[in-house]
Amino acid sequence: MSAHAVDVVVVGAGAAGLSALKQLDRAGYKALCLEARGRIGGRVHTRIDPLSPAPIELGAEFIHGRSPEIWDVVRSHELRVHDIAESAVRIEKGKIRQSEDGWELIDEVIEDMRRAAKKGPDKSFSAFLELSSHSEDAKRLAMSYVEGFNAAHGELISVRSLAQDAEAADEIDGDRSFRFADGYRRLIGEIAAGIDGLREKLRVNSIVERIDWSEGSARVRFRSRVTNGTDTLQAGCVIVTVPLGALGAITFEPAPGEILEAARKLEFGQVMRAVFRFREGFWEGREELAQAGFLLSDEEFFPTWWTTRPLHAPVLVGWSAGPHADGMLDLPRAEILSMAVADLARISGTRKGRINELLEAAYFHNWHADPFARGAYSYVPVGGLSAREQLARPMKGTLYFAGEATELNGHSATVHGAIASGKRAAKQILERCR
Ligand SMILES: Cc1cc2nc3c(=O)[nH]c(=O)nc-3n(C[C@H](O)[C@H](O)[C@H](O)COP(=O)(O)OP(=O)(O)OC[C@H]3O[C@@H](n4cnc5c(N)ncnc54)[C@H](O)[C@@H]3O)c2cc1C
Repeated sequence: MSAHAVDVVVVGAGAAGLSALKQLDRAGYKALCLEARGRIGGRVHTRIDPLSPAPIELGAEFIHGRSPEIWDVVRSHELRVHDIAESAVRIEKGKIRQSEDGWELIDEVIEDMRRAAKKGPDKSFSAFLELSSHSEDAKRLAMSYVEGFNAAHGELISVRSLAQDAEAADEIDGDRSFRFADGYRRLIGEIAAGIDGLREKLRVNSIVERIDWSEGSARVRFRSRVTNGTDTLQAGCVIVTVPLGALGAITFEPAPGEILEAARKLEFGQVMRAVFRFREGFWEGREELAQAGFLLSDEEFFPTWWTTRPLHAPVLVGWSAGPHADGMLDLPRAEILSMAVADLARISGTRKGRINELLEAAYFHNWHADPFARGAYSYVPVGGLSAREQLARPMKGTLYFAGEATELNGHSATVHGAIASGKRAAKQILERCR
């Protein structure tokens, strides 16, 4: 590989790309990472606002379970995390449903789905619900949860993939959730800090446009967002970690047919996420909401909300995913935020005008409009079970794919899954060249 300018080009400096870069660098490879944005982290995007007691997460927020990929870093760098064991209050047509923990009802349906997934051919979550004997109420709630959590459409998402994810989650205490007290960016910062001389190994504002490749050799063309000029890099191989939605913007010559076919078999889900900081926690005036962690409602656009508990802060996050987000994808920011306020008004029983009066700041990132993401995260529709494996298979020892969508062990669509995929791609290269 020494005839090349670098041994490996890594495309994308999110959790997957940085993890791959770190592994290769430690193994003595000359690797260079090209990142389109002016920052690292990709779909981990924390904003620190000195006026907010809680970090503002525009992308990933929760640490799902106790995966080694995240907890090894948490422990070795003593990162502060909050344990989130909060109840979910249910609100329908603006009315609070007393004495019901939403999570318990959801758990019952999901356990039943896991059993059903083992029998017969794969089916969608909607098809499973249709055949199940749960109450209409439990079905509605479970559907809202599955679509919300997976950014998916119930009539598309595969129950077998959901069952595989649930099994994988069991192995890492996946029903526990945590938050980084100082923001998810601390995790990315620590991964990056573990790469010696990162400045020489990472080029930000560099959009990869084209990859010409043949066995053992690749030429990567990229455009600078600062000068608009193009440049090329010669490498022995390339790891592509861009999100599924952004893959189509890169021209490959020749086209890696199997990879593109696998990418088409997966769905890339959409999420609209609004973070609101208020002058005061007005919802706490309502006794039933004072201690709430999550608010699960039947509102059309932003049905799910959560507080920063156990941290006490006047901040609420509104979550709209899958079919709820569809109608907003191309709307301007102000309109989306106004729809979030309208739904929150009904949920909290507070006038819209009052909410707007108390609103001090709104934070929002449209991942659908973002050219380097074009969506939130991947999920497996019925018929797509083999796609992740296909994506993770190297092309002629030269093109490697990583990123959350390529994670094989039931942890896709998460940060720990993305890290695992980056390490896996680096290992594939190390094993080939051993
Ligand atoms: C709103 C939202 C909420 C989420 N919540 C959670 C959560 O609570 N917990 C959790 O575990 N996960 C969550 N996720 C998922 C998690 O953020 C992702 O799975 C993970 O961060 C993906 O990492 P990655 O490295 O695979 O991709 P990315 O982080 O997207 O990294 C890919 C990088 O490639 C770059 N890129 C794209 N195109 C090009 C190009 N042409 N040239 C060069 N660079 C390019 C991008 O700019 C990006 O930096 C959430 C995601 C979203 C969007």
